[in-house]
Amino acid sequence: MGTMKVATIRTTARVVAIALAAGFMLLPWLSVDAVDPGDHLPNGQDLVDWATVEIDQRVEEIGLSGLDIAATYTGVRDLLGWVEDFNRSQVAPRYRLDGPFGILITDGIADTLSTRLSTLLSEFVRVNQDEKLTMGRQMLELIVTRFPIPPGTFLGFHLQHLSWLYGLQSDSLLAAEGAADPAGVQDGFLRRVWDLCQLYTQFHETPGDRYLCRIQQENWLLHRIVCEECGYRGMDFQNQMTGLREDTTAACREVIRSQDTGREAILKRFACRNWGHIFDVKCPECGKIIHFTVPLPDYKILQRRIAVGEDSIDINRLIKEI
Ligand SMILES: [Zn+2]
Repeated sequence: MGTMKVATIRTTARVVAIALAAGFMLLPWLSVDAVDPGDHLPNGQDLVDWATVEIDQRVEEIGLSGLDIAATYTGVRDLLGWVEDFNRSQVAPRYRLDGPFGILITDGIADTLSTRLSTLLSEFVRVNQDEKLTMGRQMLELIVTRFPIPPGTFLGFHLQHLSWLYGLQSDSLLAAEGAADPAGVQDGFLRRVWDLCQLYTQFHETPGDRYLCRIQQENWLLHRIVCEECGYRGMDFQNQMTGLREDTTAACREVIRSQDTGREAILKRFACRNWGHIFDVKCPECGKIIHFTVPLPDYKILQRRIAVGEDSIDINRLIKEI
């Protein structure tokens, strides 16, 4: 990578939303800091990309099986197991799973999983239109209704975790009293995961929705980080900035300096820019400060749409929800 021009603005998410509301571009000359917020994770994006290829292959194979209940059940259970195994065997040796980088990587994989399962299971319910409301389904429902759905925004790692729990319960039933009605249990499991997929999709429809999800994910991130010094779980918020990185390598240098206000020039400038939230968080137990960056690809899309008048954004809702 060549030289990166980096600038940051001290702000909160609310201020970011208000800036969006006013259609302001975040101006790069206000302050400078050594940050690297990209569209991609600064650490371990290759692991997310690797997992994405594998998940896509597995989902395609499940689809090719004809989407009968038993094959789809086995395929989805195996896929969930594969993701858990990948996180432990490939992510963990490079990034602590309870550190900020490890959590961002596994959350990224969970988002991939959620979008792919949504596509797969929408096809499953289209092919299998009649739900099996038999004994096996009823037994599964009695168990899984005890698992609460997290309140508020429903994120990819929620979907992955709940699907995994549903799967464990389904397997337990299939090994015991549910063995008499495997199709009821398996179909019930797949419908339950489909419900989660619909919930996930509802919260991730537009770039504005996904930007709000990113902010909620950041809150969850702070609660999940474990201090590597003392083992305490949950960090205190210290500071957050919004950083802009402009790629000033050969291809972008002239584009960024250009005064052209035409639509194509604006779009090209955005292609050379990435935003991220830069965090300082502090361990409440030992005082260790942890520094990390969360990329904001959907914030970039929102800014670009405002700049070229591509889309109207419900800014009032954004401000209200942040
Ligand atoms: Zn600590």
